[in-house]
Amino acid sequence: CGIVGYVGPRPSQDILIAGLARLEYRGYDSAGVAVIGEDGTLGMRKRAGKLSVLRDDLTAHALPDGTTGIGHTRWATHGGPTDANAHPHLADDDKLAVIHNGIIENFAALKADLLSDGYTFRSETDTEVAAVLLGREYRATGDLVEAFRATVAKLDGAFTLLAMHQDQPGLVVGARRNSPLVIGLGEGENFLGSDVAAFVEHTRHALAIGQDEIVAITPEGVTVTDFHGEPVEVEPFEVTWDA
Ligand code: GLU
Repeated sequence: CGIVGYVGPRPSQDILIAGLARLEYRGYDSAGVAVIGEDGTLGMRKRAGKLSVLRDDLTAHALPDGTTGIGHTRWATHGGPTDANAHPHLADDDKLAVIHNGIIENFAALKADLLSDGYTFRSETDTEVAAVLLGREYRATGDLVEAFRATVAKLDGAFTLLAMHQDQPGLVVGARRNSPLVIGLGEGENFLGSDVAAFVEHTRHALAIGQDEIVAITPEGVTVTDFHGEPVEVEPFEVTWDA
């Protein structure tokens, strides 16, 4: 139900947790974060329950320090509110992490196809199907943006989807269809959020992403295209409300 992404020079974990706390008002049943560590490995923790459960878990099982990360609060639609069904979902030998708000309507058909290809699943969610699909596309292309584009083209329904891969640190990709996603523009850092509350304590410069668009953020900039990879105009706006 809440989504936050960060790329920049600062340790991402605290930024992600603070962003998720600001999205708590929307309601949720589970929470999780993933970070690409400076050691080049992807770390992930997720728990059913309140953000405080995740915070305690992170104290007990510290993630590697890393400046690229994604965070999620879940409102379960497919699969109960368990640790395994919480997001992020991992794929490509746990090098790739995906978070999602919404519902992937055609997940059952996609899952059947992936199962017959020999892929396995660790959750009951519709979301993990998108993660595993993205892992397969990444193996085919070796490029996260291209793989992401090929993946979202296969999905029906409503989604705000974010992904990152440990082999491409400093990059978070996102897409939206029938579900909200906004970009926060910082100095040498950039943010993604399901709403501006996710990043308003860091920047008030924002970009609205349109329907069926894909965004790639790095510390230096943002690129927005349609689902076919064609660049699109994005509308800048200032967040005016008091944070
Ligand atoms: N459909 C997904 C799930 O049940 C995402 C739910 C959400 O929007 O938080 O895991």
